[in-house]
Amino acid sequence: MNIATSKELFERAQDYIPGGVNSPVRAFKAVGGDPIFFAKAEGAYMYDEDGNAYLDLINSWGPMILGHANKQVEEAIFKAVIGSPSFGAPSRMEVELAELITEMVPSIEKVRMVNSGTEATMSAIRLARGFTKRDKVLKFEGCYHGHGDSFLIAAGSGAATMGIPNSPGVTEGTAKDTLLAPFNDLEKVKEVTASNKGEIAAIIIEPVPGNMGCVLPNSGFLEGLRSLCDEEGIVLIFDEVMSGFRLAKGGAQEVYGIKPDLTTLGKIIGGGMPVGAYGGRKDIMDFVSPQGPVYQAGTLSGNPVAMAAGYAQLSYLNENPEVYTDLEKTTKQILEGYQKVLKKHKLNYTMNQIGSMISLFFTDQKVFDFETAKSCDTELFGKYFRFNLENGVYLPPSQFETWFISTCIGGEEVQKIIQTFDQFLKQSQG
Ligand code: PMP
Repeated sequence: MNIATSKELFERAQDYIPGGVNSPVRAFKAVGGDPIFFAKAEGAYMYDEDGNAYLDLINSWGPMILGHANKQVEEAIFKAVIGSPSFGAPSRMEVELAELITEMVPSIEKVRMVNSGTEATMSAIRLARGFTKRDKVLKFEGCYHGHGDSFLIAAGSGAATMGIPNSPGVTEGTAKDTLLAPFNDLEKVKEVTASNKGEIAAIIIEPVPGNMGCVLPNSGFLEGLRSLCDEEGIVLIFDEVMSGFRLAKGGAQEVYGIKPDLTTLGKIIGGGMPVGAYGGRKDIMDFVSPQGPVYQAGTLSGNPVAMAAGYAQLSYLNENPEVYTDLEKTTKQILEGYQKVLKKHKLNYTMNQIGSMISLFFTDQKVFDFETAKSCDTELFGKYFRFNLENGVYLPPSQFETWFISTCIGGEEVQKIIQTFDQFLKQSQG
């Protein structure tokens, strides 16, 4: 495969952009090789600067649930751009999108738009702190909530890949207010809560983590957190930046039947444009400025182009709920195909899947938290990643990321994904 133009662009990029990329995982540090520079994308495929096609299993890390260049979303964007790329003042689409979100995610009574998932989680914990008048937050090892200082402690995603459990620049004071517990370990959460009684403002969690690979909550775990938060007056925040509108119209909270106090959103909500949001209980959201005392603002928040893209994508999902059963069916076909291939090669690697999120872990252990995720052979993952890339399948460049399936992935693509895996195992064993 000729990737000469990507190589040349990466050389140039390294002179002017730190590491040559605008987000660390894109540099392929964890998997080796040079990053690919893309020129366009359509449906299930992305096309690089040299004209190579790649079957895309990242889908922009989640937002492109309807595949690339979806006509409905694109048309909404074009129409909005002609209106004006930015007003910096209220506009109709903000109201309509807020109404639609509250309809699709019933725990959200009021919602505030921001520009990224990071902003959403940072704002949500400030709000929880302002509301409870407490300072500490509890997060789970391996969960990633964006790059806000409070969250760069035992974080997943790029931070896990790059081995930066505590980034320089995060002050000791900030780190001390972030408490940790292993995912799926309710007893540990209870212990930490007891030893910090009356001091914890929020428990924040990815209800279905995608940032240590796809990990599922054990039965009773999320329910246990809900009860504990109720007993202790702690704000329960579901970070559904990934799982929101992906696992169901109402996200993971609909699938598991748990109502968080606050929810953070991003990715799908923007249809590919930069958007995040946080919302939840009205009494808490009314603490947000200008209604309440907790300050949070944004020059481009509620941007008309982003709102139009998000509205087009969410309304499609809202009106076509069969999308979710179709996505699950496709993802299950990949899961079952992979399992068959593993069996054929007498291997026992772990796979986790829910809805259109799926991960292959290069370990025989069950993966239910960050420790077990870390038992994977990441070197082997690197080989597997590069083999896929050379064969035109674009996987997330890290063991600690989920794959995201889009509605554009059909039977032909599923076969290609499975065959490539079979060929990889054949050559790596042979
Ligand atoms: N929360 C979760 C669960 C995420 O997966 C991410 C990003 N992958 C974020 C927050 C941060 O979002 P953003 O990259 O848009 O800042």
